[in-house]
Amino acid sequence: MSHTDQSIDVPTLLEISASGALVGSTRRYEKFSGEMAGVYLDEAAWKAEVAGKGADNLVYSVNEHKYQNGPGALIVGTSCVLPGSYGDEYAVTRGHLHAVSDRAELYYCLSGRGVMLLDTVDGGTSAVELAPGQAVNVPGHWIHRSVNVGDEPFVTLFCYSADAGQDYTIIAEAGGMKNLVVHDGPDGWTTVPNPRHTGYRSEPSA
Ligand code: ZN
Repeated sequence: MSHTDQSIDVPTLLEISASGALVGSTRRYEKFSGEMAGVYLDEAAWKAEVAGKGADNLVYSVNEHKYQNGPGALIVGTSCVLPGSYGDEYAVTRGHLHAVSDRAELYYCLSGRGVMLLDTVDGGTSAVELAPGQAVNVPGHWIHRSVNVGDEPFVTLFCYSADAGQDYTIIAEAGGMKNLVVHDGPDGWTTVPNPRHTGYRSEPSA
């Protein structure tokens, strides 16, 4: 078996903080409000946010540690979704289905309060609230997105197969996920049907 970067294909100590800092990470990426076009139902609210805070205002970030691409390897990382609202909707990540769609993923809440919003392409839907110490084990074949329903950063530790990949277009092509997470109810949030959702295409057969 050949590895492209043997130097990091060794056991590595990772230091993970409740804020999402990850000592030992091999990659960090950030999403800015200007990159979230079409994600929120209330387009005017999103435009107002971009106009007010700038297109380069950070909305979420990810730190990850990956030692190789091969089957069996894991990616471990942290996701930090900043609090925010766009009209009635809470701040979300773009969301995805794994490109190798049977790959599962664990999300463990480190700090803040959020919801993992989940759909299957054939109509299944779920929303799991997470507080520190709680986790959701996302089975394969579930489209998933993190939603911050609190007023501090929603930080999770995640772990999934390094060969899973992400299909982001499946949500955009369907007009968004089946439900929206909005301000309401005794818990401060509830789900309502997304009027723009047109149904998902089938999963790729590959
Ligand atoms: Zn995932």
